[in-house]
Amino acid sequence: MKTVVTAGEIVVEIMATRIGQTFLEPGPLVGPFPSGAPAIFIDQVGRLGQPCGMISSVGADDFGTLNLERLTASGVDVSAVAVHPGAATGSAFVRYAADGSRAFVFNIKDSACGLMAMTGAAEALVDRADHIHVMGSSLFSDGAITVTKAAVQRIKARGGTVSFDPNIRPELLVGAMREALEWVAARCDVFLPSGAELFLFTAAHDENGAVAELLAAGRSAVVLKKGGDGAVLYDARGRTAVPAFRVEEVDPTGAGDCFGAGFVCAWLRGEGPEEALRLASACGALAVTRKGPMEGTRFRSEIDDFIASQTGVAA
Ligand code: ATP
Ligand code: MG
Repeated sequence: MKTVVTAGEIVVEIMATRIGQTFLEPGPLVGPFPSGAPAIFIDQVGRLGQPCGMISSVGADDFGTLNLERLTASGVDVSAVAVHPGAATGSAFVRYAADGSRAFVFNIKDSACGLMAMTGAAEALVDRADHIHVMGSSLFSDGAITVTKAAVQRIKARGGTVSFDPNIRPELLVGAMREALEWVAARCDVFLPSGAELFLFTAAHDENGAVAELLAAGRSAVVLKKGGDGAVLYDARGRTAVPAFRVEEVDPTGAGDCFGAGFVCAWLRGEGPEEALRLASACGALAVTRKGPMEGTRFRSEIDDFIASQTGVAA
């Protein structure tokens, strides 16, 4: 089986409990929950039974320990997560508006996450990897960009593959990030945008035109995520659209990360478009049924049971 790696932020998430709550006055909060988009992604990859690991850094504190214990229990190799005494693990505070939108206060760049580097352990992990998944939101500092670019180059040089989820949060789109996003976008095999992220790197501003540009430029697969409206895969075989599974949405955070994990694992195993989208959609749907960013990741058997219960098809 192919080994998947990712690099980027490990954080705790602390959530406002009331819809419409602000951070301008005291209010009830819940957390810490293990989080960070690449961490959620790789946790779901591990729970799907795919060999995997993560390059990151955390502080020598409870927030770091909480994440390391969780990832390890899910089957993720954390040997390339550096633990920095004296630095604090990253954090994200999130609140929810009445229209379902989210706003974040991040402490990532100036946390232990900002100390990410290509350590010996990170090089060893990259040299065992067949595939790297890049989250655009993880390209938040020069250190993170350097690590990601080096890992992409080493894995591609050995014939490995790259997937890329822009995962743009407006709060995080600064400085060198734009150039780094373009660098990764030009090298990925699988591109997994959500909504308008499809047009980040294209001249065209309509779906068909943008997809044609991306496939002509060398992308193997473009997977457009549409939340509760489902997902569409474009590749050399054409267009495959699937509706979302019907679930009750409790917390949307992490859906795209889990969907990406399901898709990448299926794609690496050579599964067809329908099967890959079915696994991805099941991971995405299950992700929104639990409160907390990483709480919705599931083990393979639970996902298979869910698919069977929804479709009558044994996975
Ligand atoms: P994120 O907010 O985590 O970055 P995203 O915007 O990248 O997510 P979404 O399109 O929100 O990605 O979700 C990814 C996939 O998860 C969808 O294509 C769909 O298959 C599934 N999904 C998301 N929300 C729901 C929902 N409410 N009900 C069922 N499935 C959902
Ligand atoms: Mg979304």
